[in-house]
Amino acid sequence: MSQDSVETTVFDGRALAKAMRGELAAEIHDLAKEGHRPPCLVVVLVGTDPASRSYIKGKQRACSRVGMNAAEHLLPESTTQDELLALIQQLNADDGVDGILVQLPLPPRIDPARVAEAIDPAKDVDALHPTTSGRLVAGTFDIASCTPLGILACLDHHGIQLDGANAVVIGRSQIVGKPISLLLQSRNATVTMCHSRTQDLAAICRRADVLVVAAGRPKMVGGDWIKPGAAVIDVGVSEVDGELVGDVDFDAAQGIAALISPCRRGIGPMTITMLLRNTLRAYRARKGL
Ligand code: NAP
Repeated sequence: MSQDSVETTVFDGRALAKAMRGELAAEIHDLAKEGHRPPCLVVVLVGTDPASRSYIKGKQRACSRVGMNAAEHLLPESTTQDELLALIQQLNADDGVDGILVQLPLPPRIDPARVAEAIDPAKDVDALHPTTSGRLVAGTFDIASCTPLGILACLDHHGIQLDGANAVVIGRSQIVGKPISLLLQSRNATVTMCHSRTQDLAAICRRADVLVVAAGRPKMVGGDWIKPGAAVIDVGVSEVDGELVGDVDFDAAQGIAALISPCRRGIGPMTITMLLRNTLRAYRARKGL
């Protein structure tokens, strides 16, 4: 380590996720003792994509481990948009359902925006309905996108100062870039949002106290893009030669970043944890608990 080298902490997403899921399980246990039924998440999958199937299995397993009920609707690839919308209406009307998640991507003939708009905002635990995003903009949100909530939990866990910090977000997706930039603003960070047309990206990143990278471009952020002592959150996950690679050059960040959340076992486990958190919040809000 050189004289100016910074000691780098690597975020352990699995450990924080485990601790937070323990807290959620205790909360659900206490609700059961008071005579309340467990919260229930329903996951809908259209088609047979093996990756999506494995994601929804992971979500269901996580639900049952904290004492939540989880149900799945596996619809054939041939399902029409109207059939999917009819199922969502049915789930909206079912008082025993607290959270609805429609696994993306959907077959090309189904419009994901129409599907998101069909979900009752009170059950919108994946935070895709325009009402949910509108509440985030207005600062009156209780539920927000899972990955950004996981990023915030990571930063808070490590005591990263957000008030007045220069935060840079690379990527402007609905599920990561846009909501994390709003969450960081809500915590008084000064946020710069970057995307594929941004000029001098490296120079902008070098000014970041907090750098969130969600572009899906393997190792695009090298060590020379990172301000010494910065907190770096690598959200990107790409498969390169059979290996999962992040958007940040993890090895190059060592000795420069004060905190790095790696692409594996970083934000990923936090994302599912925040889905459980959102489902419990939605349940409590609907039940007035
Ligand atoms: P996305 O929809 O894939 O969009 C990528 C964003 O990055 C776009 O806004 C794009 O800009 C920007 N971008 C692409 N290349 C760029 C470049 N060279 N310079 C600057 N900006 C660039 O975004 P996403 O869905 O948020 O996914 C991003 C990555 O995060 C993916 O690898 C995904 O697998 C991963 N991810 C991980 C988790 C998790 O839980 N760990 C959750 C969600 C996503 P334009 O808007 O200009 O096109």
